[in-house]
Amino acid sequence: MIKNIKVFGIVQGVGFRPFISRLADEFFILGSVANKGSYVEIFASGAAENLEKFVTAITEKAPPRSAILKIDVTEISAEKNFTSFEIIESEHEAGDIFVSPDIAICENCARELFNPADKRYLHPFINCTACGPRLTILENMPYDRERTSMKNFPMCESCKAEYFKPNSRRFDAQPICCNDCGPKVYILNSQEKNHDAIKKVRKILASGGIAAIKGIGGFHLACDAKNFDAVQKLRESKFRPSKPFAIMFKDIDAAQAECILTDNQKIFLDSPQKPIILLQKNNSTIAENVAPNINKIGAMLPYTPLHLLIFNFPDEIKNFPAALVMTSGNPSGVPITIDDEDALKNLECDAILSNNRKILMRADDSVMDFIDNEPSMIRRSRGYAPLPIFFDGAGNNSVLAIGGELKNTFCLAKNNLLYPSPYIGDVEDLRTVEILKNSIRRMMDLLEIRPEIVACDLHPRYQTSKVAAEISQEMQIPLVKIPHHYAHILSCLAENNFGGEVIGVAFDGTGYGDDGTIWGGEIFICDTKSYRRVSHIAKFKQAGGDKSPKESWRSAVSMLKDFSVAKNLNLTDEKNISAQILMLEKNLNCVESTSCGRLFDAVSAILGICKISSYEGEAAMKLQSAAETSKKNFDCDFEVENLILPTDKLFTEILSRRLNGENVADLAKYFHVQLAEIIAQACEIISFQTKIKTVALSGGCFQNSLLTSLTIEKLKLRGLKVLRHRLIPPNDGGICLGQALAAILGARN
Ligand code: ZN
Ligand code: FE
Repeated sequence: MIKNIKVFGIVQGVGFRPFISRLADEFFILGSVANKGSYVEIFASGAAENLEKFVTAITEKAPPRSAILKIDVTEISAEKNFTSFEIIESEHEAGDIFVSPDIAICENCARELFNPADKRYLHPFINCTACGPRLTILENMPYDRERTSMKNFPMCESCKAEYFKPNSRRFDAQPICCNDCGPKVYILNSQEKNHDAIKKVRKILASGGIAAIKGIGGFHLACDAKNFDAVQKLRESKFRPSKPFAIMFKDIDAAQAECILTDNQKIFLDSPQKPIILLQKNNSTIAENVAPNINKIGAMLPYTPLHLLIFNFPDEIKNFPAALVMTSGNPSGVPITIDDEDALKNLECDAILSNNRKILMRADDSVMDFIDNEPSMIRRSRGYAPLPIFFDGAGNNSVLAIGGELKNTFCLAKNNLLYPSPYIGDVEDLRTVEILKNSIRRMMDLLEIRPEIVACDLHPRYQTSKVAAEISQEMQIPLVKIPHHYAHILSCLAENNFGGEVIGVAFDGTGYGDDGTIWGGEIFICDTKSYRRVSHIAKFKQAGGDKSPKESWRSAVSMLKDFSVAKNLNLTDEKNISAQILMLEKNLNCVESTSCGRLFDAVSAILGICKISSYEGEAAMKLQSAAETSKKNFDCDFEVENLILPTDKLFTEILSRRLNGENVADLAKYFHVQLAEIIAQACEIISFQTKIKTVALSGGCFQNSLLTSLTIEKLKLRGLKVLRHRLIPPNDGGICLGQALAAILGARN
């Protein structure tokens, strides 16, 4: 009997073909396996019983980094006579393409890296079929060395032998290389190369200096995380006064010495994706200015051989730091730097450790928080992008969704698969616009998707909307505009592969509403076809325009509308308060708003926690941090009437308690609890009226783990089912997915 087996999923660049070949030997199967670009095709001939076991074993024993999404098995009646089991060279066919994300160095490679007897001893680019760069070095599909930036490094004879040997760990490993044939590290504008370059950087870091290090998806800026002065110097050179820096710990023990780690967090921290995880500080000796006034710290583990060498290189430095600040090397507001020329121009530091392997696609570190001990993605990029999201019935239309303006990612989709891109950044700077356009082109080529429709936000003045309009013109394809908060909810439905009706709770900072006002605290009844806004937080007049998100005192004054109270709370100087109140009275530079983000800002300001932010979301983050130190519990004090969430009354109540001198942390907690309560109440009422039993939570406010956890608890108490984000960010970094879904389904209708 001969079977034709097609395996779909991440089956390229993860040692899939050698795995199939070994499995065939085990079950006495003859035939062949070939990489078809979009899938792996197997012809298997053997006894019926063995064939059955063989097919089962494919899913059960698949290589660790593969992800099988579908297996098609058909029996064929050909009289083919196989005499062996063969691995056939790559052929390319169009179809659904799964580009593997980059994979952190595996245990085997890490062991060889520090084994003096190994030929790859201390080789900064060691990799195998189970690990190494993928997306960031990929030029084109199918994934073969000549279509990656490793093409400039011809394999030496001994690497070649491993590459062609089916039972080697590096059989068919495209980026395979060694000390003889691999890329080289060097210090820019300096003589040091190879190991000397690594030693020099270790010396700089150990003595309180700053170094730039080229990684997988771009440059990092690094310094000793326990050295206050070094961190301060880095802050000054990056013009980043207080936004938290991420830390790379030497190993899991070093992380555990400073932070609390749950078992689940440990698994993710050490996973092949190696994301940054926000961990609770615990008697931390990390410098206070790494994450000032925040009770969590962004932590990751080394994920490239070079990182391991920087921490553990066998030289005379014995007290090398166990924790390094590792922050994206980029000028403020511009995406991460990937080449030497830009690094020299943009990165202020004591040395730049670069290498001659080109980065073809940017990939920032992914950032993840945990809510109720489950992941909650904040930035989805390296290690995760561009893995697709499956959505049943999304249909065959090819779509490009541009995403939002802040934390931009875009999304290409085809055949029920939606591929969110790596993180691009805030698309305000023209340089970012260029990078966005280039990245779109690259991903269209890699995934072989020619969009028939392009989607963007409803906001008329977003740069991303302009880019979408341009693409629509150039490619002569229709442009659809998707309301911001509807896109948020759809992204949650897409991630959960949920096609039914939901009560959609979209809470965030700012989005353009379909009535021309600023939305941000919205509850919809919706499905994948349409939405209806049925509830929202209390409207308020917001003065100060674009300055509001950073100057939270403005939101506070807008809600107070009272000079003497604002002065009493010392929100800002008197001149500012008067000017703000005048704007409100004369209706100058004012918008009507239901932004929940601004409500968080206002509460943070009146509690004296944060009146001016130096980064987006600072006021809300610090408010949450304060709330988490409170041990108090509260009953519900408010009632939702006419489906308006009484956030105005909540604000007034907090104000009067604050003026009565109540504890600030308790009031911060009180705010979170009451807000969760009134959201749940509104959902209960809507559910009662409509019989809809499922609630979807999305929008940047649900990045707040305290609010999300409380809201879920209160919704479940009311018998409602909750859909939330896990691996797609609830913030604007996720809306491309919702836009794509809307465009695909709309296009089909
Ligand atoms: Zn490896
Ligand atoms: Fe948003």
